Amino acid sequence: MTDTARIDHAVYKTLLESTKAIPWKIDWKNMTFAYIGPQIEALLGWSSSSWVSAQDWADRMHPEDRAWVVNFCVAQSKDGTDHEADYRALTKDGNYVWIRDVVHVMRNADGEVEALIGFMFDISERKKTEAKLIDLQKELETLSFKDGLTGVANRRMFDSIMAAEWANAKLNHQPLSVIMLDIDYFKQYNDHYGHIQGDDCLKRVANILSSATRRSRDFFARFGGEEFILVLPETDELNAINIAERCRTLICKEKIPHEKSEVIPMITVSLGVGTVIPTDKDDPIRFIEEVDKRLYQAKQRGRNCIANSD
Ligand code: GH3
Ligand code: MG
Ligand code: MG
Repeated sequence: MTDTARIDHAVYKTLLESTKAIPWKIDWKNMTFAYIGPQIEALLGWSSSSWVSAQDWADRMHPEDRAWVVNFCVAQSKDGTDHEADYRALTKDGNYVWIRDVVHVMRNADGEVEALIGFMFDISERKKTEAKLIDLQKELETLSFKDGLTGVANRRMFDSIMAAEWANAKLNHQPLSVIMLDIDYFKQYNDHYGHIQGDDCLKRVANILSSATRRSRDFFARFGGEEFILVLPETDELNAINIAERCRTLICKEKIPHEKSEVIPMITVSLGVGTVIPTDKDDPIRFIEEVDKRLYQAKQRGRNCIANSD
């Protein structure tokens, strides 16, 4: 080596060993490490002299990552394709650190693969942020199906559930029932007690009604404003009326004062009940409209009561 070459070599070595990325080189023929930067010890605890063969690299990998990473890297290297892989590297004290390995394939004059050179990057912080983002996304998904005030399912969730239950009932020729509930004289309640107490009342009503059904597939949601809805799969009209009656009674029993109600001086609800065994001729939107009409009938009949198909 000439003096200039020696100086260049020293400069490059210093540069390589002072970066955060960890440089390495593997001789392809005998699959041994020709070099690995000393920074590896600070990151994983294993000294650079302990990295002898490619097997050491594979052994110091999370068992869940090992097979695909090794197969992928070997296949890419054989093809002579530069590549990168993210995996969890084992530390000397038994923990794991997320690494991104970026690999360049070196060929000789004949075009044969001679060596792999690469850099390992510590990406644990990035992975933590990614995991946090995924958690947040999941939370957002849950939140977007939840009513913000009462915590029960919202209209959007109702739309999805209703579509699914409708399709299922149609396929299996099973009755599907829906109950719509609306608080009586709630405008007067708000006017008299104030909007904040109105919100509290809605929370209480939602809480009571969400415990009114027994089967796991029964579904309860806030339909909007002071209206709620129940979807009852595999439930005929008689059973649906019984459940509607249970809802009405549960609300009465709660005895939430409502001085301005024209029914009784307590919070009451009116209910519309509908049952369908859906066929191609039926339509879920029309069915819901029909149930809504019955709810309106219950209002006209004096409220605090149930209207069904009769
Ligand atoms: P009816 O017996 O015919 O149902 O009469 P109502 O007064 O209950 O019916 P109306 O639809 O006229 O009024 C509904 C009221 O519900 C009006 C609205 O201010 C109130 N409301 C809707 N959403 C909320 C809410 O999130 N919080 C509160 N506090 N009030 C709400
Ligand atoms: Mg109302
Ligand atoms: Mg209403």
